Amino acid sequence: MKAHIAVLPGDGIGPEVTAEAVRALRALEKRHGHTFTLTELPFGGAAIDLTGNPLPEPTLETCLRADAVLLGAIGGPKWSAPEAKVRPEQGLLGLRRALGVYANLRPVKVHPALLGASSLKSEVLQGVDLIFVRELTGGIYFGEKRREADSATDVCTYTVAEIERIVRCAARLAQQRRRKLVSIDKSNVLETSRLWRQVTSRVMREEFPDVSLEHMLVDAAAMHLIRRPRDFDVLVTENMFGDILTDEASMLAGSLGLLPSASLGEGTRGLYEPIHGSAPDIAGRGIANPYGTLLSAALLLRHSLGLTAEADALEAAVSAAISAGALTPDVAGAAAAGAVSTREAAEAVLARL
Ligand code: NAD
Repeated sequence: MKAHIAVLPGDGIGPEVTAEAVRALRALEKRHGHTFTLTELPFGGAAIDLTGNPLPEPTLETCLRADAVLLGAIGGPKWSAPEAKVRPEQGLLGLRRALGVYANLRPVKVHPALLGASSLKSEVLQGVDLIFVRELTGGIYFGEKRREADSATDVCTYTVAEIERIVRCAARLAQQRRRKLVSIDKSNVLETSRLWRQVTSRVMREEFPDVSLEHMLVDAAAMHLIRRPRDFDVLVTENMFGDILTDEASMLAGSLGLLPSASLGEGTRGLYEPIHGSAPDIAGRGIANPYGTLLSAALLLRHSLGLTAEADALEAAVSAAISAGALTPDVAGAAAAGAVSTREAAEAVLARL
């Protein structure tokens, strides 16, 4: 098949990990006889340095024409001064909104070889296989923001239509899995959460009677996620709760560097990125974990290009590389002395493709 993929390496370790995902896509392209056009574009802090804009017009236009977008990470101390008017994050929010990707999927699976890499006990982690569905284009991150001399305001708004579409997305996923949906809110305090709970109950009752639904308050969810993570199948929540809980859930897997994400809208076009940031503390040292980005490329192959066999092959190769002990320092733990570099970890995957 022919496909056009926009590649946005971004900042910090972003270019280091996307380079490895590009090599994996090239290897799959060759092996399976596809033609992938990969266009690399400036984005985030790197684009601010070049053009003054974190999401330059040509970058946005190319992303809108592409079949999928693969992103590394953006941001860093250089662009983070509190008084800065232009920030890399504005580029990311703008891109998500322009692409209309309202559903952020974050699978968390604990690899048996990495049970020791998490700070939780391995008996709690065995068999964990859950997926978060985070609403991505609404809520407090997109509401009106105001600053007065001695106060500041962020407005949180959700519409019925925004809640319905994200709940349907999560429920469809649950139908392909263990048919268990947990919806997370703060309905004892927030009006948006009371609407969220009401709409979720109705959509699930009317359209997905085959999926069990449990409502959970966000504070309780934060606790249950580390107390009994195996019990969860699909979790759906609003933008900010999802942002926070998915970082917590990533620790089940051992490192932020291991986890992929897919952001999807109505069509097949999607935005794929590892869940970690630009990790300025390790940027340029060649030790970043590339697996989260490689697994994001696998999600891209599956969800945007419909290439299931290729996606399965890439995921199996990453899993086999981890089993073989190709671990970067963030997950190598006590064996950190024997840890591999970003390139060596990616080579271990390519060798198994
Ligand atoms: P971060 O995810 O960049 O790093 C947190 C910790 O995890 C660091 O110790 C880092 O070294 C480690 N880490 C992250 N990814 C890793 C990988 N692949 N391999 C090994 N270790 C890894 O979060 P932060 O430090 O809070 O933020 C740094 C910058 O990234 C900030 O400017 C922030 O705004 C930005 N950020 C961007 C995104 C994004 O691009 N989507 C997401 C989160 C944070």
